Amino acid sequence: MVTPIVGAGTTESRWRAWPAMTRWPLLDLPDTGVPLVVAPHPDDEILGVGGLLALLGAAEVAAVTDGEASHPESSVYTPATLAEVRRHETTNALTRLGLRDAKVHRLGHPDGGIDEATLATQLADLLSPGRWCLATWRGDGHPDHEAAGRAAAAACAATGAILLEYPIWTWHWAEPDDDRVPWHRARRIELPPKVQAAKAHAVAAFRSQITALGPEPGDAPVLPPHVLARFARPAEVVFQ
Ligand SMILES: [Zn+2]
Repeated sequence: MVTPIVGAGTTESRWRAWPAMTRWPLLDLPDTGVPLVVAPHPDDEILGVGGLLALLGAAEVAAVTDGEASHPESSVYTPATLAEVRRHETTNALTRLGLRDAKVHRLGHPDGGIDEATLATQLADLLSPGRWCLATWRGDGHPDHEAAGRAAAAACAATGAILLEYPIWTWHWAEPDDDRVPWHRARRIELPPKVQAAKAHAVAAFRSQITALGPEPGDAPVLPPHVLARFARPAEVVFQ
C-alpha cells in the first residue's frame, strides 16, 4: 500500500489531542546490544528513532540511499553534491546525539529505486539472532520507506533478528484511529527532556532538508516546520 503524500497532512496538534498517544504500552528497552537502524534516506533514522538511539547510547546505521533525489529541481545542488551533503549531515546528526562512534554502512541504492532483494541480503549480513532492527514501517506510504521495511522484515525472518518498525510519513497521511495503521502494535518510548533536546539538535543537522537550498521553488525545504513538529514530541512510537 503506497499512500500518496500530499497537502499539509494531519496537524501535530490533532495527534497530541488523541488520547491513545499517551496510552500505548512502553517499549521494553534491552540492556545490551547495538541496534541496526535502517534509514531509506539520511534523516529518517533521526526523525523516527533518534531519541531511542540516544537512550540506548549505541547505534549502527544502514544508510540505504544517500537521498540525492530530494531536490530534483534545485537551482543550487546537483544530485551528486546533494548526496555528499546529506552523507555528512547523517554523520553530524549522530555526533550531536552522542553517537560519534556509530558505524554507518553506506549501501548506495539509488534514491527512489531501492533494490529490495539486494537490500534484504545486505541487511541479513548485518543482523544476527535477537538483534534489534529498526526500520521504516512497511505501510509508511513512501515507496522507499516501504521497500526498506519489507527488506528489513525479510532479513529479520531469515536471521532471527527482531524487527521494530517506525512510522515517518504515516503521521502525515493517517489520522487518529485510522484503520490503515496497526496501532495495536504501537509501543511508546518516552524521551526525557535532555534526550528531546539532543534529538532536536540532531534534527537541526539536516540543513539541506529543513532550510531552503536557494531562491527557487525547487529549493524549498522537504521538512518544513509543520512536518518537523511531528518529530519534536516527548515520545517516539514504533510498531512491535
Ligand atoms: Zn525518507
